[in-house]
Amino acid sequence: AWYRWRTALKPCVGAMMSDERFVLPGPTEVRPEVLDAMRHPMIPHRSAAMELLIQTVHARLQPMFGTTLPVYVVTGPSTAAMEMAVRCGSIERVLALVCGAFGERFAEIAELTGREVTRVIAEPGQVVSPEQVRLALENGNYDTVTVVHSETSTGALSDVASIAKVVRDSSNAMLLVDAVTSVGAMPIAMDAWGADLVFAGSQKALALPPGLAFVAASERLLNRGRTLFDCGYALALVRYDEFWHKSQS
Ligand SMILES: *Cc1c(COP(=O)(O)O)cnc(C)c1O
Repeated sequence: AWYRWRTALKPCVGAMMSDERFVLPGPTEVRPEVLDAMRHPMIPHRSAAMELLIQTVHARLQPMFGTTLPVYVVTGPSTAAMEMAVRCGSIERVLALVCGAFGERFAEIAELTGREVTRVIAEPGQVVSPEQVRLALENGNYDTVTVVHSETSTGALSDVASIAKVVRDSSNAMLLVDAVTSVGAMPIAMDAWGADLVFAGSQKALALPPGLAFVAASERLLNRGRTLFDCGYALALVRYDEFWHKSQS
């Protein structure tokens, strides 16, 4: 009903929209100074100004991810980052930890891109335990594990630190982490966890307009990506990395 009300309001947005009360995980209310910044004139995307912007944004994203790795700015929704993670980070056999709609979306993307997916499904509101992950890894030869840190659809928070430890200790699998509603809302320790890929979106806890996603990946994952035919072009993480080293989009 809320969505219909909002859609009906669309033709008469203007002042009314700015009074709107957001009760969503995202998009959120965006601060006026951020909205003002969007009215700046465009800058050429291969200019020194752009290089400086990319470097500045990157330096501020790193602590939010708890990483010293590059954080790429992806022009797309978080779902694009999710697909990017699957395409460049997984090979054949994916273990998907599912505690709600976004964990399921991760699994579906892996299936649609031709991976063989095994799900470990938690009860609604619950999370998959590190012990369940250990058991699943013992029983299958997975090259990748997907997990959603903060499962927005139920509010459940996965213990990524412990899951990462289990994945590291009992397999060679890469751990891909959806941190869309946790980056900016709580401390993220990508490097300390030993996660291979973490992504977030602009319109959730970061309280920015939608349309951008942020991705960090380990060197080990990038090395895997470089050997895969499946990375595509626009979503090729390895390409993002290549251009990031030139401070370019
Ligand atoms: C919102 C959300 C997504 C998808 O984000 P989009 O930018 O709409 O594609 C993915 N994962 C989680 C946990 C989310 O909350």
